[in-house]
Parts: sequence; C-alpha cells; structure tokens
Amino acid sequence: MYEKITAPCDRCHEPIDGFRTERETAGYYDTSSEYWQQFANEGEEKVCDRCMWTDPRYVAVYGETNALSIIVADTTAADEYT
Ligand SMILES: [Zn+2]
Repeated sequence: MYEKITAPCDRCHEPIDGFRTERETAGYYDTSSEYWQQFANEGEEKVCDRCMWTDPRYVAVYGETNALSIIVADTTAADEYT
C-alpha cells in the first residue's frame, strides 16, 4: 500500500509528484523524520528531490556517491555502443 503525495514542497512550493509507503518515500524527503531533519530548514516537513539535490548539506553526504553511480552508468552505456 502506498499513499500518493501531491502536496507542495516546503522549500520551492512546487507540487511534489511522489508517494510514500510505511517505510520510505519517493520523489521527496520526509524531513519531519529524525534522520532527514538534518538536511532541512526549520519548519520544513517535505522537501522535493530537486531541492534536496541542491542543498549543500545533502550533497556533502550523498553527492559523491551519486556522482560515482552516474559515472558507472555512463560507462555501461558507452560499452553498448562500441
Ligand atoms: Zn522543492
């Protein structure tokens, strides 16, 4: 079971196209949770993917990991065309 989320992002106020299950969220971050709170500003409960990826606090923790996975994905794609 999942619940569709259409409420606006608390940071950019654009509608969020995402959903949540009992354990996780997609398309946004539940920054009212204890863990994601560290990347949120005061009073923010939902932050969309796009905003989170431009947050220096988030990029400092997850930026390098994601950059690495993009490089790996690019390498795989390049192999298919050789
Ligand atoms: Zn946003």
